[in-house]
Amino acid sequence: MTASDFDKIFSPYDPGDGKVRVRFAPSPTGQLHIGGVRTAIYNWAFARRNGGTFILRIDDTDPERSTEANTRAILDAMKWIGMDWDEGPEVGGPCEPYFQTQRAHIYQAALEKMKANGSVYPCFCSAEELAAKREANQKSAGYTGYDRTCRSLSPEEAQARIDAGESHVWRVKVPEDRGDIVFEDAIYGTCTFHADIMDDFIVMRSDGTPTYNFTTAVDDAIMGITHIIRGDDHLSNTPRQILVYEALGMKVPMFAHLSMILGPDGKRLSKRHGATSVQAFREAGYLPEAMMNYLSLLGWSLDGETTIFSLETLCNSFSIDRISRNPAIFDETKLAWVNSVYIKEMGAKRFVELAAPYLVSAGLTTAEEIESNRGWYEEIYPLVRERIKVMPEVVDAVAFLFRGTEVEFDEKSVAKVLGKEGVPEVIDSIIEVLGDDGLAWNAEAIEEAMRALLEKLGKKPKEVFQVARVALTGSMVSPPLFESIALLSREAVLARLESAKPIAQATFEAKQA
Ligand code: GLU
Repeated sequence: MTASDFDKIFSPYDPGDGKVRVRFAPSPTGQLHIGGVRTAIYNWAFARRNGGTFILRIDDTDPERSTEANTRAILDAMKWIGMDWDEGPEVGGPCEPYFQTQRAHIYQAALEKMKANGSVYPCFCSAEELAAKREANQKSAGYTGYDRTCRSLSPEEAQARIDAGESHVWRVKVPEDRGDIVFEDAIYGTCTFHADIMDDFIVMRSDGTPTYNFTTAVDDAIMGITHIIRGDDHLSNTPRQILVYEALGMKVPMFAHLSMILGPDGKRLSKRHGATSVQAFREAGYLPEAMMNYLSLLGWSLDGETTIFSLETLCNSFSIDRISRNPAIFDETKLAWVNSVYIKEMGAKRFVELAAPYLVSAGLTTAEEIESNRGWYEEIYPLVRERIKVMPEVVDAVAFLFRGTEVEFDEKSVAKVLGKEGVPEVIDSIIEVLGDDGLAWNAEAIEEAMRALLEKLGKKPKEVFQVARVALTGSMVSPPLFESIALLSREAVLARLESAKPIAQATFEAKQA
């Protein structure tokens, strides 16, 4: 291939409109984690805010740990949480392909350009030689990188050794006179790295595979990325990537390095803190909009006080200058609270959709039954909307509605409420009221009749309503009583009350003994 062939392959994309182009570039070596998805959200929201382009690129260069299943899981997690991408897998785009493993020819072309302008050189030092050099180096202060033995080989000698098939890597020739590498990070401010102590780092390994700093800089350059928003674990890679940009004669983008995310104990968020992947939170019953809302606040703030806002607000307001340099704390309790706010607001239709899988897998009902009886299921929503923080909690909260004539009693509730003197009589009078055929079977009518009973018996609400609650639901803690009764059938209610009577009697007697 000629130099012009390589130029054709290495042809940077520039839409020419000066608009923002950002990318999220996950390595598919595992699930999408909290830190990664936060980076994705910030890039996505930044693009949306600025009418720019959000690119998804898959950095799958680690052949051992990158899998298709992981890529799939990352795409699914991103979509689930509410992100879309303008270029990347599934949607394509002008910079195809978006998988690094399919871009080897581009890295090769970039390397050829760098060879031609003398910004890289081949290094023939063996692993053993390098190890020995490193050891010797450790004893001296200052520069501790590769000792640049091969940098002084003449081009002819280097070429002869390559032609003879000698194994070699390609290293960047850090320019002698480069001085400090200084860049303005949008979050960290001015960052200065001393080029004179920088290693002549490898861009192409001896097996022909490119390194992270090389592929990333080449792709970011060629894809016309204007802003690189990523974790600050990459801060120290930035000067190397800048050298690649310079060697290729490309404009260096803006950088914004995000502080890491810590657990509530102040330590870096990791598996020790429990679930950290988006998938795990999805399975735990968190809502995507709650996740998006909460995660966007891990380092950014809308106005310093608002904690609940929509996707639209995020996209209309996101700006890098509201990103904090301080590490953010991931607190699942706070996330659960945000989730509960969204549950309160989601409405009955969505509730049924989201609750259905949990109710079905707990064996309480079937998908067909839900389908044919939607109205009844929607009526459950007001009963639980303020009582559950995550969707799976719906099972315990409403299981009593599904047990027909059976009640699963909580011992403490039975002892405390049913074990009192006179309870069987109270239950009898409740049966009388609720068994009246003339009583309309809805919450309002039931409440009215029960309050009238209270008056008639001259008892406190607790003495009657709490008895009904435990007799019908098995527990002192349950959703609102009258609405719950209305959702049960009259037959089930009467049968449950009947069977609570002997239990109340026995509990009372046991207490006396
Ligand atoms: N694949 C790299 C990572 O996941 C991308 C880093 C970057 O954004 O440059 O860490």
